[in-house]
Amino acid sequence: MLTVDEALRNILAHGSPLPARPCRLTNAAGRVLAASLSTPHDSPPFDKAMMDGFAVCSRALLPTDSDSVLTLRVLETITAGTVPTQSPGSDSACRIMTGAPLPDGADCVVPIEQVRFDDTAPTVVDIPAECITAERHVLRQSATVASGTRLLEKGTVLRPQHIAVLAEFGLSEIPVVPAPSVAVLATGDELIPVQEPLFPGRIRNSNEPMLTAQIRRAEADPCPLGIARDDPGHLKERIETGLACDVLLLSGGVSAGTRDLVPQQLQAAGVEEVFHKVQMKPGKPLWFGVRSDGDRRCLVVGLPGNPVSSMVCFEVFVRPLLDSLAGRPERTDTRSGTARLTKDLSVRGNRTTFYPSVVIRSADGLSATPVDWGGSADLISTAQATGLCRLEPRDDTYRAGDMVPVLCWDPPEPSSAS
Ligand code: AMP
Ligand code: MG
Repeated sequence: MLTVDEALRNILAHGSPLPARPCRLTNAAGRVLAASLSTPHDSPPFDKAMMDGFAVCSRALLPTDSDSVLTLRVLETITAGTVPTQSPGSDSACRIMTGAPLPDGADCVVPIEQVRFDDTAPTVVDIPAECITAERHVLRQSATVASGTRLLEKGTVLRPQHIAVLAEFGLSEIPVVPAPSVAVLATGDELIPVQEPLFPGRIRNSNEPMLTAQIRRAEADPCPLGIARDDPGHLKERIETGLACDVLLLSGGVSAGTRDLVPQQLQAAGVEEVFHKVQMKPGKPLWFGVRSDGDRRCLVVGLPGNPVSSMVCFEVFVRPLLDSLAGRPERTDTRSGTARLTKDLSVRGNRTTFYPSVVIRSADGLSATPVDWGGSADLISTAQATGLCRLEPRDDTYRAGDMVPVLCWDPPEPSSAS
């Protein structure tokens, strides 16, 4: 049976980033840029005014003593979005608004607050000579960035500020690593949909909404497929639907029961088994395989049906896989670390145990408090956990103060008390 690390290596060996796809800018936030991009034009694309005021040509105005006031003719008003038609000279200025193109020859904008200007006689303006200095309140074409400059590197995770920059340059469709699409298929004759009342022998399909939420937290695209009965034909048909996604997650049906038909039906659907079973607790029956169809691939993970097993196997194996497919393997690292146990804990058997725990960051590092947990069917006590302690089998008890690896749902935050 594979160890946890061997199983993870086997899974991640299939986790190369998905092929790049063009993506509209409006949908690109959070995605990884699949190619480096350069600026297709200058920024700003023209010389522009940075204040509301008057554009003048400082060179054309004869040197005067700095206390004097120049009375200039107002040639026209240039608003943002329009194009100037005249040039200010030795006795003239143009009224101009922030963001409007500078007229030819102008090299200075004097803010409206610094001039004397009467709206009822808008043909003249008095400007103190001391306010006229070349390049004041103007932004020259390409001053921010010239055409052909590297704008964003391949591998950038696109945040709103990147989207803004791409939008400025008209890059409305860009190559990204797409979000992996992830089908979720719950299997089991005992399952009923969440919204239905219980009846004898049945339980609700809690794994589907749980896994869907975990997929969303991983910033991938969930595709819930409902419940497949423990029936070869029905199972195979639903599996075929799920294989259209990048990843197919099944829950249940991978153990040793007489109705555990998932491995057999996956193989019937052309999914090649990579491994079955891992030395871990919970999660031992985990199944992993790949269906290749020309260039298309679907990675298939058979999660054990027990809710905590499914949840743990998702966090330990599927989430790093989704990060990797999405082009950002480093995210797993920001969720893992080493924490100090706050209480004694004994683990039995010879498998790696993942123990639901509350992980907190404080001034002296991470601490982990295992929750009072009843095993793989005990979903309720895990609700307060923020991650998992990884405990290797050992003869003696783990003691408060021991350092253990942890894997958290989110990068650990400081506790409100620290
Ligand atoms: P299995 O892996 O199919 O043997 O299921 C193991 C246990 O998990 C059984 O008690 C199932 O009833 C339970 N289980 C299986 N699938 C789900 C599910 N989708 N939601 C909640 N519990 C489930
Ligand atoms: Mg079952």
